[in-house]
Amino acid sequence: MNFEEFDLNDDILDAISYMGFKKASPIQEKAIPIILKNKDILAFAQTGTGKTAAFMLPILHKISEKQVNSINTLIIVPTRELAIQIDQQVQGFSYFIPVNSIAVYGGGDGGDWVRERNALDNNVEIVVATPGKLISHLSTGNFNFSQLQHLVLDEADRMLDMGFFDDIQRIVSYLPKNRQTLMFSATMPSNIKKLAKSILNHPEEVSIEMSKPAEGVLQAAYMVREEQKSALIRLLVADKEEYKSILVFTSTKAKVNNIVRSLKSDKYKVKGISSDLQQKEREEVISDFRAKQTRILVATDVMSRGIDIKDISLIINYDVPNDAEDYVHRVGRTARAETEGVALTLISENDMYKFKRIERLIEREIPKVPLPIELGQTPDWSNSPKPQRTKFANKRNFKPRKNTK
Ligand code: ADP
Ligand code: MG
Repeated sequence: MNFEEFDLNDDILDAISYMGFKKASPIQEKAIPIILKNKDILAFAQTGTGKTAAFMLPILHKISEKQVNSINTLIIVPTRELAIQIDQQVQGFSYFIPVNSIAVYGGGDGGDWVRERNALDNNVEIVVATPGKLISHLSTGNFNFSQLQHLVLDEADRMLDMGFFDDIQRIVSYLPKNRQTLMFSATMPSNIKKLAKSILNHPEEVSIEMSKPAEGVLQAAYMVREEQKSALIRLLVADKEEYKSILVFTSTKAKVNNIVRSLKSDKYKVKGISSDLQQKEREEVISDFRAKQTRILVATDVMSRGIDIKDISLIINYDVPNDAEDYVHRVGRTARAETEGVALTLISENDMYKFKRIERLIEREIPKVPLPIELGQTPDWSNSPKPQRTKFANKRNFKPRKNTK
């Protein structure tokens, strides 16, 4: 479906074609008409399917149809990085209309506070905020949301994972009841429905096929012993000169540092990102990677959701994510909007069962490729049993349940 078929005004259509979008994605096709009709919506669609435009385009259309000069739309997002990114996307979509937006997030200095307070008082139509910082502003009375028409919760599942349920309720208690609320989520955990029930009003529910990485991703996996991983990753990167941006995911901050060190010794432009870094440093690392000054970014899961960086050609999972949905999110960093990408996962023996769980979730078996010959024989763990859970393996932690009868 082409964007012209929606009832959007010309300035917005111009911005869309300026951004190079030709056809609406499935979630856009379903969500845009509902949002234009002023209905609440609960939308599920995996990462990389174009959710931002799905909510932003109809909202911008509505703002540009009438004189708005107070805060019209509040977008709540889980992380600072996402707040910055959505604010930038809003500026792109509103290129030809007089709409101002601001990103409000923690970790800044006093200057930010004043700038945000002034903006919240006046002259912006769209606020993109993380829950914590927004609450600080709300509780000091620095704002005027009385004319608010739209509330958007983006990455709602992630916000619940991060424990923002009560914060969101609290924010909503400051907002006018008569508003349109849009909730977007990549996954469908049960507490999402609970949140939806409490803040949405007779929502239309739309859902786009879940839990499968985008079509364009070529996925493969290596069965490899833990102590061989570092050598394997160096070989994989050495072999892929044409890959301009490579993202490596790992489970712990300590491993981020080790991988960075080992790749640095091969003279690659490589940086690590984890919650250890200050906000400013995190932004710098991301913007260098986005600008392709850093070729390889090594990250913990802070990076796996929501951040949209163009043209990541290769994702390497240094270890298998604990949560099968996280695999989909990690792999979703490549092949955004139907370009091509490669996602490789290193599986150690203990991770075999977790990997099988992922294969069940995405309903396909991911091909296992042999190790490069330099590393010797490929182990075969395809029939490894599920390892004992350490909690129960350790007898001192194991308390038998009391029989309650
Ligand atoms: P999501 O929020 O679902 O993870 P985003 O809204 O961040 O996805 O969009 C993912 C990428 O796809 C972005 O780079 C965006 O500019 C691009 N995109 C979105 N919609 C379209 C479209 N209709 N045509 C082409 N590219 C699109
Ligand atoms: Mg998004």
